[in-house]
Amino acid sequence: MQIKLYNTLNKQKNDFVPLNGNEVRIYSCGPTVYSYAHIGNFRTYVFMDNLRRVLKYNGYTLKHVMNITDVGHLESDGDEGEDKMEKAAKKEKKSPYEIADFYTKAFFKDMEKLNIDRPEIIAKATEHIPDMLEFAKKIVENGYGYETSTAIYFDVSKLDKYPVLSNRNIEEQIAGARVEVDPEKRNPYDFAIWIKAPENHIMKWESPWGLSYPGWHLECSAMSRKYLGEVFDIHTGGVDHIPTHHENEIAQSKGAFGKIPAKVWMHVEFLQVDGGKMSKSLGNVYTISELEEKGIEPLAFKLFCYTAHYRTKLNFTFEGAMASQKSLNRLRESYIKHKNGNDKIENSLIEQYKTRFLEAINDDLNLPLAMGIIWELARSETKSSQIADLLVQFDKVLGLDLENSEKYIENQKNVELPTEILDLIEQRKKAREEKNWKLSDEIRDNLKEKGYIVKDTKEGMSVEKM
Ligand code: AMP
Ligand code: ZN
Repeated sequence: MQIKLYNTLNKQKNDFVPLNGNEVRIYSCGPTVYSYAHIGNFRTYVFMDNLRRVLKYNGYTLKHVMNITDVGHLESDGDEGEDKMEKAAKKEKKSPYEIADFYTKAFFKDMEKLNIDRPEIIAKATEHIPDMLEFAKKIVENGYGYETSTAIYFDVSKLDKYPVLSNRNIEEQIAGARVEVDPEKRNPYDFAIWIKAPENHIMKWESPWGLSYPGWHLECSAMSRKYLGEVFDIHTGGVDHIPTHHENEIAQSKGAFGKIPAKVWMHVEFLQVDGGKMSKSLGNVYTISELEEKGIEPLAFKLFCYTAHYRTKLNFTFEGAMASQKSLNRLRESYIKHKNGNDKIENSLIEQYKTRFLEAINDDLNLPLAMGIIWELARSETKSSQIADLLVQFDKVLGLDLENSEKYIENQKNVELPTEILDLIEQRKKAREEKNWKLSDEIRDNLKEKGYIVKDTKEGMSVEKM
């Protein structure tokens, strides 16, 4: 069945046909490893996982590259501020390489917990400096780059068209620029492809322009070209990459090779928290471990991501995530009931479900619609191992590890209560000893909000995870 994917380049859903037979070549912008990735970042990687799984489900083989940015991503997505890696290294009093190593490991640990399929090739920026240098030289040789006292800039005015991906209005952007434009830039919206290292900069390499380091956009251009060629099938990232990072990747590839590097550009809308932007100052930038501490499994967060299509904003609340945790528990229980069921269902009905599921996922990854079909099956009064088999088959796309449902349910029974919950239980015991029923009830409600049911029995209080 034909797959349709939405392409930011022409703002349409198009039939997807790989450039090269049965193999799909994909590049995904990966994490900048200067701190823990947050749940917003992971919405984008859950999407990446879904895309991989949908393509595999349709019988394609994949050659998928994800980069690790361990140098060159400045504090803004443009040319402002310090390198994020250097800043974190100074703050944590470690070398940027130690910082990168630590947060890369943490990132893959979370990826594993989310059961996210690992791309075939993981490419670290610092291990590809010669490839990037070659790319930068080509841009300069072709007349698209020029040197200033601080950097090698890409001359955007040399392109036939800029921007091509976003609707960004260059004039407005110039007028709204937050900092003084570098007076050495030929055009205010030119961007750095290579940056001359200040004296105290740790990460720097020899280049025709002295000790320096690559710009973030150039890294992705060079690494995608190295592994996937000058033109490949799909490029992915979050919507924040559209106006600057991906626009500039396209400019660079046009400057070096005269081509837009990918056919399809796919972007994930943002995950918001409590209806607004996630930000450190609001204290609402959550990690996967922080969700776990509150009793929300990484796979429940994954299921939560399926409540909205990837091209619409998704609002994270703990209430919503807890509801997804309960849904996941129910789904597992239903799967087990079906697995042990003896009812028989018609093959034609199974085929109908398969077709409907395929139609949903092939329609630009409509996971909310696909989940509707999963729930229909799970809730079926007919308890049949054929349904269990179908759920396992569909789970190849969802990646919720339904096959191991028994294991998760068993683990939940044995789960040790988190310290926060134990503290609340203690406080409630004290309140009851003091006959403070109001406080006791409040704590019970609080525990319920956190996903724990309190029962008062003759033997005392029992607390169970919902
Ligand atoms: P970074 O490590 O900052 O380069 O971001 C990694 C990925 O997460 C990129 O593809 C971003 O576009 C994406 N991203 C960042 N914030 C969010 C968010 N709130 N929701 C969804 N994706 C995000
Ligand atoms: Zn990138």
